[in-house]
Amino acid sequence: MSLFEMAKIPMEKASKLINLDPNAKAVIEQPERTVEVSIPVRMDDGTTKVFTGYRSLNSTILGPGKGGVRFHQNVCLDEVKTLGFWMTCKCAIAGLPYGGGKGGVIVDPRKVSTGELERITRGYIDRIAPLIGEKKDIPAPDMNTNAQIMAWMMDEFSKINCQYCPGFITGKAVSMGGSLGRTSATGRGVITAVCEILKKKGIAIKDATVAIQGFGNVGSWTAKCAKAAGLKIVAISDISGGLVDPNGFDPDKLEAYAKTNKGVIAGYPGAKAISGEAVLEQDVTVLIPAAMELQITGKNANNIKAKIVVEAANGPTDSDADVILEKKGIPVVPDVLANGGGVTVSYFEWVQNLYRYFWTEEEVVERQEKMMVKAFNKIYDAAEKYHTTMRVGAYIVALEALAEPIKMRGIIG
Ligand code: GLU
Repeated sequence: MSLFEMAKIPMEKASKLINLDPNAKAVIEQPERTVEVSIPVRMDDGTTKVFTGYRSLNSTILGPGKGGVRFHQNVCLDEVKTLGFWMTCKCAIAGLPYGGGKGGVIVDPRKVSTGELERITRGYIDRIAPLIGEKKDIPAPDMNTNAQIMAWMMDEFSKINCQYCPGFITGKAVSMGGSLGRTSATGRGVITAVCEILKKKGIAIKDATVAIQGFGNVGSWTAKCAKAAGLKIVAISDISGGLVDPNGFDPDKLEAYAKTNKGVIAGYPGAKAISGEAVLEQDVTVLIPAAMELQITGKNANNIKAKIVVEAANGPTDSDADVILEKKGIPVVPDVLANGGGVTVSYFEWVQNLYRYFWTEEEVVERQEKMMVKAFNKIYDAAEKYHTTMRVGAYIVALEALAEPIKMRGIIG
């Protein structure tokens, strides 16, 4: 089964529960447009290499497309389409005036120079420029892309359009028109979701332990916000493997250590080394996969000992694991809710860019929290009402938001 087919399983369940018009479902099920581009890039050694990129505009039912651009050696059309579909649902759930989209370039950024990375980035924007814009489709960071790459994208797009175009992209540095609180937003929102589910389950924060898979932007900010909330992080991993410490990790110290250790956490003093996979199987209150897709699968889901799973990555749990976790009575706060803090603050950035008027960090944090708690409760209540999982509950909320505009616009009769 493709990732895209798998991603549609909970939507299928949700559409049955709410008796969604099959015509509306057919419209929602496919991306509006997906393009593949070839990007010729002059490499440092004088040769020209042609890179492949994608942009999938999943939906513009609720607004312009919105979603990040991923740089990874395994990027493919199926993945980009799926991530775009998740963005549509994520934005609808969060109540943002956006559709969904996603882009990607097949490249391992560790294997190219900074100059080559810049030329790949600019070349990608040259190719997709006619399809993107602040009212069309708005890119952002995703795996292996950051504020520097957003800055090159903005510079390239502004040159092509002969005007300053900050609103066409989010996740920019504050000096480039970015928003305060954007870098930390996804991790902060994950911890909002953790605190809300603990409240529902009657577990005090001081009694909760967490395991985090991943120490990239999302994983490290999730860890920092967990610490600030009073949660104890007893296991953590990155590409170099896993670490456990029953006394709890200080993420700031871990980050400072990684900076001196080629960016990885392996060998952190005082902690016991375990495998990256073993981090998923720790006996903790909350397991937070914050790395990438398909980490909790039919193969290891039976070994999950956490009481709750909160998905910081996109698509970390496969459909077989979903069934197993449900049977085991382990609630999963789904990705489209739990990691929605990133795109929520991207929305704030876009609003600030359109107004040319900037907010304080307190305003950003407060508004994000309010929106996420509202979305959390909507989904929790939908799951209770229909006696289903929070993942299916999330798709119920998304489909309900999309169905009426599809009909009123006259896309279906
Ligand atoms: N890439 C992030 C995500 O998957 C953020 C997208 C955005 O801010 O547009 O949610």
